[in-house]
Amino acid sequence: MDLRVDPDRLRADFDALAAIGATPDGGLDRTTFSDAHLAARTWFHERARAARLECGIDAAANHSAVLRSRDPVAPTLLLGSHLDSVRRGGRYDGALGVVCALEVLRTVQDAELDLPVALEAVDFTDEEGTLIGTFGSLALAGGLTREDLAAPRGGRALLVGELARAGLTEDGVLSARRDPATLAGYLELHIEQGPVLERAGIDIGIVTGIVGASSFRVTFEGEARHAGTTPMDARRDAAVGAAAFVVGVRDVVSRTFPGCVATVGDIATEPGSFNVVPGRARLRLECRSLDGAQLDRLEEALVGRARAEATAFGLDVTVERVGRVEPAPTDSDVRGALADAAAALGLTTMELPSGAGHDAQSLSAVTPTGMVFVPSRGGVSHDPAEQTAWEDCLNGANVLLHATVALARAGRPVNHLAR
Ligand SMILES: [Zn+2]
Repeated sequence: MDLRVDPDRLRADFDALAAIGATPDGGLDRTTFSDAHLAARTWFHERARAARLECGIDAAANHSAVLRSRDPVAPTLLLGSHLDSVRRGGRYDGALGVVCALEVLRTVQDAELDLPVALEAVDFTDEEGTLIGTFGSLALAGGLTREDLAAPRGGRALLVGELARAGLTEDGVLSARRDPATLAGYLELHIEQGPVLERAGIDIGIVTGIVGASSFRVTFEGEARHAGTTPMDARRDAAVGAAAFVVGVRDVVSRTFPGCVATVGDIATEPGSFNVVPGRARLRLECRSLDGAQLDRLEEALVGRARAEATAFGLDVTVERVGRVEPAPTDSDVRGALADAAAALGLTTMELPSGAGHDAQSLSAVTPTGMVFVPSRGGVSHDPAEQTAWEDCLNGANVLLHATVALARAGRPVNHLAR
């Protein structure tokens, strides 16, 4: 099949979108529900309307453009990403996936392909977490809870104010769930945001899944004593135990958990002065894995290491779980369709996990989901310097197009996850 997206139309859209909320350093600022974010969403609907696509906004403010099937009860294959950004972010994160989704719909429409599914390009609300994080996709997938709304990442006051400003209600947001039986799948194109594809010289990444993450507060307790009069062998120095643990975390992961990561992102000692031996050290620990059972074992090994270091340095330790997000594997049939599409286009591929969260994580719980990564220059992301070669963007768009057509034509994809 020699169907291709229109490179000029896609480029014009990408540039027009990147100008909305642009910062002088080449990046952009489009935090959720900011004026620039709302303008970007309006722009998306204008472009969709210009292409005679049906526009929709759901109760979580997710913005859609739909290309209907001739079959009025056909299920919907979703293609999407997000138009919001982090503060002072880059032009590619999220935006590339949305313009490519829109371009796939227009290309299918222009070619007058008669597909047995509806295609829907979606711009999900608040992926980056100004308010909650993957907020719109969780709402659509039915994964958003009242507890999420009660304790949002950006603070309750901000959420309440911003929902009101956007004309949304909490009950409405919780009702935005779509019946999985109406969904045929979800595809997302995204920049890798890491250096793996570029280092390997590979065109296209096929995402095996989005890693799960666990976070803990670890506190070592010793005794605060005079730093001048307390002999070295009479100390219970919490900072020493903490330091040994930081090195130990690295050791545990690199020796026993290939493919996993763990990080001590913060250390604070008390009382925190020149002349007092630290009596307490508080650490923030996070670890990630693509496999739930492996994540269990990793957690256990890290907690065990904290206990061992405490014992070694005569300290007490407490480990308190702060949160856990389960890994979200992608669907093997969808991965196959993406790999076939790339091969047919003469592109090289590799499978890799996503260390970052994405809307695909929400959707993978309810419908067959796949993700395409395109290389990020220098692995830079969430930064104005974020960049992907235009040829790589185009390659990704064409892989998305061909996989979409193949999955749609495979008949009505059976959504095994519908319940
Ligand atoms: Zn993103």
